[in-house]
Amino acid sequence: MDNWLGQLAPKLQQAQTTDAYRRRRELNSAQGPWVSIDGRRMLNFSSNDYLALANHPEVVEAFTDAAGRYGVGSGASHLVVGHHGLHHQLECALADYTGRERALVFSSGYMANLGLLQTLLGKGDSLFQDKLNHASLIDGGLSCGAKQLRYRHRDIEHLESLLQKHAQGRAMLVTDGVFSMDGDLAPLTQLATLAERYNAVLMVDDAHGFGVLGETGAGSAQYANLNQQQLPILMGTLGKALGVAGAFVAGSNDLVETLIQSARNYTYTTALPAACSAATLAALHISRSEPQRRENLKSLLRQFHSGCQSRGIPLPSGEASLTPIVPIIVGSNQRAMALSNYLGQHDMLAVAIRPPTVPVGSARLRISFSAGHSAADVTSLLDVLESGCKEIGALV
Ligand SMILES: *Cc1c(COP(=O)(O)O)cnc(C)c1O
Repeated sequence: MDNWLGQLAPKLQQAQTTDAYRRRRELNSAQGPWVSIDGRRMLNFSSNDYLALANHPEVVEAFTDAAGRYGVGSGASHLVVGHHGLHHQLECALADYTGRERALVFSSGYMANLGLLQTLLGKGDSLFQDKLNHASLIDGGLSCGAKQLRYRHRDIEHLESLLQKHAQGRAMLVTDGVFSMDGDLAPLTQLATLAERYNAVLMVDDAHGFGVLGETGAGSAQYANLNQQQLPILMGTLGKALGVAGAFVAGSNDLVETLIQSARNYTYTTALPAACSAATLAALHISRSEPQRRENLKSLLRQFHSGCQSRGIPLPSGEASLTPIVPIIVGSNQRAMALSNYLGQHDMLAVAIRPPTVPVGSARLRISFSAGHSAADVTSLLDVLESGCKEIGALV
């Protein structure tokens, strides 16, 4: 090949030599605490199916029942003929769950973030983001034309100094509610105070808090007790704790109507199948009515944290024990791969997370738990992690 596509091969070869190469494994089972992957059964600590709903019989039944009645494809975008009554019901249920006036369902969280930022902000505006925010927020910020400023992770003072210097036009603060690769929480109360002080609007991406945090699982906003006035833009995803697919933005009637009128990522894409909304409605019902799922998660997390402490497995401290995401940060790509492979040899799946997903030098195993795991599963994980950390020299 003599055009520039020929330059792809050497780049790929280079990635392979630095343990940075990414490979997809093939799943041959449903999501769950045990999965069959690349033909092997493994205890799964890499999924975001925190409430174990992705393969819950009632969720599956709602999906198949709706597919039986309404078919599979939605046929068109929401503004044409794809906006099914089930999508409307889901939006009402999400608004009610989150205590917001309205909610709007998007086909994915990535699209919701891009659509929202591109619709609300433009040239002359300013967007303040936590350094560890999800890639979709960073990409949305880069593409919306606003001046983008990134503050040090959870550092309110740094944020305030940036606000003083750079706030212009429509100012927005945006943060992950629960950070996706670290499992720690954003300081939402302080962020809401700063937003008010600087006349900025606060937005939270609650992909990993929705379904998990708060008394009824309504997420980070409920946990921090922030109403629509204090936290006007709440985004959550439906493919993680809720176990289905898609995402939503919740807030005022005017916010939602504006997105319907102008968000290109909403308008110019095919609506999710109606069956997805039926399944999500069933999952929402379970999330609200079965707090024991969150209780079980909490007890697994307590067990894991205290186990790591007593065995010298390195853990970042702090509030992380509230969330089902626990990073074991080992540094280099090579060590992260070695530890992940060690777990693999013992039939445990914990995928190594490497740059650029996380900062250089902080490669890690991102361990995630589900309400479907048992205490015995956690004990097995601790045993294998302890010997694995010993093997790669990562015990503290
Ligand atoms: C997963 C994730 C998204 C993207 O959501 P999808 O529905 O998977 O596209 C957005 N933000 C955060 C913080 C996430 O973890």
